[in-house]
Amino acid sequence: MMVYKPRLRRGSSDVTHSLPGTPTARSGRLLGVLLTCLAGCERGHAEAPSGTAAPLPLRDVRVLLGNDIPRMRLRCPRPLIVTDDSNQPQGSVPATESILVEPDGAGGLRLGERSIRASRILLRGGEGSPISLALEREGEWSVELTYPGALHLRPLDAGLMELINEVDLEHYVGCVVANEVWPTFETEAFRGQAIVTRTFVLYQMTRRPDAAYDVLATQGSQVYRGVREDAVGQKAAQAAEYTRGIVLTFSDRGEDRLFCTYFSAACGGESQSAKLLGPEGDVPPLQGGVRCDYCEIAPGDAYRWGPVRLALEDVTSRLLARYPEMESLGPLVSIAASEKTSTGRVVSLRLTGATGQTHDMLAERFRLAVGANLLRSTDCTIRTVGSDVIFENGKGFGHGLGLCQWGMQGQALSGRQAAEILRFYYPGAKLTRAY
Ligand SMILES: [Zn+2]
Repeated sequence: MMVYKPRLRRGSSDVTHSLPGTPTARSGRLLGVLLTCLAGCERGHAEAPSGTAAPLPLRDVRVLLGNDIPRMRLRCPRPLIVTDDSNQPQGSVPATESILVEPDGAGGLRLGERSIRASRILLRGGEGSPISLALEREGEWSVELTYPGALHLRPLDAGLMELINEVDLEHYVGCVVANEVWPTFETEAFRGQAIVTRTFVLYQMTRRPDAAYDVLATQGSQVYRGVREDAVGQKAAQAAEYTRGIVLTFSDRGEDRLFCTYFSAACGGESQSAKLLGPEGDVPPLQGGVRCDYCEIAPGDAYRWGPVRLALEDVTSRLLARYPEMESLGPLVSIAASEKTSTGRVVSLRLTGATGQTHDMLAERFRLAVGANLLRSTDCTIRTVGSDVIFENGKGFGHGLGLCQWGMQGQALSGRQAAEILRFYYPGAKLTRAY
């Protein structure tokens, strides 16, 4: 299998000391390309101007907000401009209190009183106005959130719709930072998160350029809940602006490459290697083993956890829900750590079933299947006692790959700047101005 390695331009220099300085001559050209593309909402990839760099996705971000939506309610302070999948105008919907949108049962969509026959429609708020929306799922309405940019709506089978938000990349970064840091974090921690968030999304955009969307709006990618108008939202937007265009890269045979900037709440003492995720994680900045005691400042439940006692029967059914092929083991009778790091983080587990069969499983996969909020990390001890399994002495919250967010906050409190902190958690990485 070919491993796709997103590249930036050759020989870009570490911009740490110019943060947030003006772009260099070469990066200034890249900046121009990005501005053009974002303004025109161009699809596809713009070629970097020097000819020495691989494509960088200089376009808006497409965030999947849902593909299981039977109905949604929209509200916009300006008329909504509607176009179909051939970019043909379909008129506008006057600004109203709110309109209901749902599939019309004949392959199109119904917007309020109107039915539009199109396999996809695009909605934009007049004069760039953001659009507020609430989604219905399983009979419940979500809280109303407000999204900048455009909405792509597509009717699916079974009376459901897909909803994608196409949003300016830097606007997206600010919105994500507002949700992915704790409101009490220092300014430098907000800035660090902005660089990590920008790199993460650009990496995803280069990795699957032809996919219908780039990222999810959930923890599966980065949490995106549209515009946040309060002080935290403003601080996050300022962090995005301050670090505009700056990404993390590492040098690979003379090329600066993006990598997947994983982050989690608290590493619990040492970061985990991303090698276990496959070739994509086998890069120097994600090698793991970064010792960190800065995250000890995390609030109690974000640093120490457990004991968590679960019935083996319960664990069996949670695992089967995600891995039905494990049924051949029979009900689990024992769970034990089979591999640990030197600091005690469990890397893999041995599951023994009533049939006597065993199955070795990555501890991180097990944690996600059983419940990532229940088992807050894989840095814990595991005991099988009778028909139960006990997870105790837990440290950290999250997968522990890459950046430790509470560690970043701890270092920011001690006066360190974002660039220095990020180089600490992603060894061998440097800050590069992408545009
Ligand atoms: Zn840490």
